[in-house]
Amino acid sequence: MLSSKMIMIVIAAIALCFIFTATPPKSYYHSLFISPSLSNNASISRHLYTLTRRPHLAATEANAEAALYVLSTFSNNQIKSHLAEYAVLLTYPDSRSMTLIRPSPEPSTTFSLRQEVYEGDPYADVADQVVPTFHAYAKSGTAKGPVAYVNYGRVEDYTTLNEIGINVSGAIVLARYGKIFRGDIVENAYNAGATGVLIYTDRKDYGGAGGDTKWFPDDRWMPPSGVQVGTVYNGAGDPTTPGWPSTIEGCERLSRDEVEKRGDVPLIPSLPISGTDGEEILRSIGGMVANNDWQGDKYAPVYRVGPGPGIIDLSYKAKEVISKIQNVIGILEGAEEPDRYVILGNHRDAWTFGAVDPSSGTAALLEVAERLGKLQKEGWKPRRSIIFCNWDAEEYGLVGSTEWVEENREMLASKVVAYLNVDYAVDGPGFKAYATPQLDQLIIEATKRVQDPDNSSQTVYQSWVKNMTYPEMGRLGDGQSDDAAFLIHVGIPAADICFANRYPVYHSMYDDFVWMSNFGDPMFSRHVAAASIWGLVALRLANEEILPLNYDSYVYELQKGAEDLDSTLSNQSISLIPLFKSIENMKRATKQINDEIKDIKDKKSWVFMWKKQPWKLREINDRLMMAERALTDKEGLSGRPWYKHLIYAPSKHNNYGSKCFPGIDDAIQNAERLNTEDSWNLVQHEIWRVSRAVTQASLVLRGGLT
Ligand SMILES: [Zn+2]
Repeated sequence: MLSSKMIMIVIAAIALCFIFTATPPKSYYHSLFISPSLSNNASISRHLYTLTRRPHLAATEANAEAALYVLSTFSNNQIKSHLAEYAVLLTYPDSRSMTLIRPSPEPSTTFSLRQEVYEGDPYADVADQVVPTFHAYAKSGTAKGPVAYVNYGRVEDYTTLNEIGINVSGAIVLARYGKIFRGDIVENAYNAGATGVLIYTDRKDYGGAGGDTKWFPDDRWMPPSGVQVGTVYNGAGDPTTPGWPSTIEGCERLSRDEVEKRGDVPLIPSLPISGTDGEEILRSIGGMVANNDWQGDKYAPVYRVGPGPGIIDLSYKAKEVISKIQNVIGILEGAEEPDRYVILGNHRDAWTFGAVDPSSGTAALLEVAERLGKLQKEGWKPRRSIIFCNWDAEEYGLVGSTEWVEENREMLASKVVAYLNVDYAVDGPGFKAYATPQLDQLIIEATKRVQDPDNSSQTVYQSWVKNMTYPEMGRLGDGQSDDAAFLIHVGIPAADICFANRYPVYHSMYDDFVWMSNFGDPMFSRHVAAASIWGLVALRLANEEILPLNYDSYVYELQKGAEDLDSTLSNQSISLIPLFKSIENMKRATKQINDEIKDIKDKKSWVFMWKKQPWKLREINDRLMMAERALTDKEGLSGRPWYKHLIYAPSKHNNYGSKCFPGIDDAIQNAERLNTEDSWNLVQHEIWRVSRAVTQASLVLRGGLT
């Protein structure tokens, strides 16, 4: 006969079996998440159509309306949502004028500075809501002088001009878009002594291969009157509240003078202009013929460098307003570890209609929210909390995300597992990923499970890797989207993914739903795939008992960066031994934690641990989560204290370029210029700093005290 104790055990066992069979494993929900039954091309397309019906610039009524749309979609999918609002300095164009004065008797030209509505444009009725072309945070003022052509406006372009004896001091410079961040184009021009800057869209770069004469709406290319609007601010976040939040109830604020002294806002006026206007100005420039690689396409006039004889008379006046911006925050609380956050982020504000940038990302974010809503109906709950962030005023300088991160800095530093950004989701075929290296493996695994939207016979991974052994993984740290505050300021593992190929209508009024549905993603299947990969990466980070972060790839990247430095510095008496040693430490620490994890997984002992010793799993996960934080330094990069990450941050002269070891790189550039003992000592100092940070990261990974 069974004792009553044994009966109890049998009942408990049956109950347990029931619980285990009734609750599907997490892998079931992961497969369901990416299955065609949950994906919806039509609803993504509908979201995109709704979000882009009107231009939705930061702090406009249309963007507030879009915020409510996002908020209600979150709420309808059982994601608790609220607005996180800030009062920030934004600028809008008040007046603009530009005249080209030619040597007499030729007439002057006053430009209209307008992008043209095409025949049959379905958005003609709201074209007057498109903001006049301008540069955000540009200096108000007038400038008049002979115009000089400076190619892409890079430091090396000014070096070339110097070598051929061309001085642009007192001139207005004409640069073309495309190689470096526009804020750096203005800063480089200022450093060269220019008094004003015009930046145009060259047909060679944005007008189609071989100077094709078709453009939007007949083809994907930028129309001749199209203008790339954008910010020329070189910092991150509200320029009047550097390092602290612009809280709505009031906060400390810098004056205009103080902001200018910090060096992130331009000190000379600038305007973005169209290809047509740029070409007309180029025809008025005489002097030496520019090098071949400075020339335009086969239909363009011969480009000369000037300065003059054409004279530009330029005037720009900004309206500078403290404006209310709105981030939408949605929280899906974790069932077991609610205090660990996996964050998905995308911005909502657009310069114009923003079908690609950013609304394709917003539509994908809403698709992820809807699929997670359906999983919840099936009984799923995430282990860790999943946070949705839909940012405002990204286009002005990552303002919404930066203010929120600054406000919540300590909470985020102790709780965020990873930040997964999608600035925009789609501009064409071809998967692209940028990540801190411990996320590489996870992203690769997600792409192996999702079908390539442009080739049904293979996975996204197979198309991405092509004939190589490893796919091309980009790195973050360029400071150009909302991952910047998370990664560079706080040290949170981060990624950004998209499907991208060519996006010539970038930041122009032609980035609309028609462009997307004709050229960017006619079937909306690239949107679906982007949402699948984005959500799957988030789900695994939120659900798996042991965080799927792997530092092998980090060690490899650090080693590669150090070897590059070694060859750059081969003629100098600089020692890289401390750096190589610290990377060795990191390698050993990575092996140690990988072995510990393998051991737990082999024995399936996480189940036991989670029940009996939950702190043990938490301890391993915290080591994986916090190692990235150790790569930051409280004081930040030299002269740029907000930028705290010592491995990934923008280079000083080009925000678009991301550098490994930015502090060392800046110090080398400085030393090469000055070539003094002190300046080379500073390079050695920066090498020591990075070595100490890498050593800290390996201590965190090892999890033991010295
Ligand atoms: Zn964007």
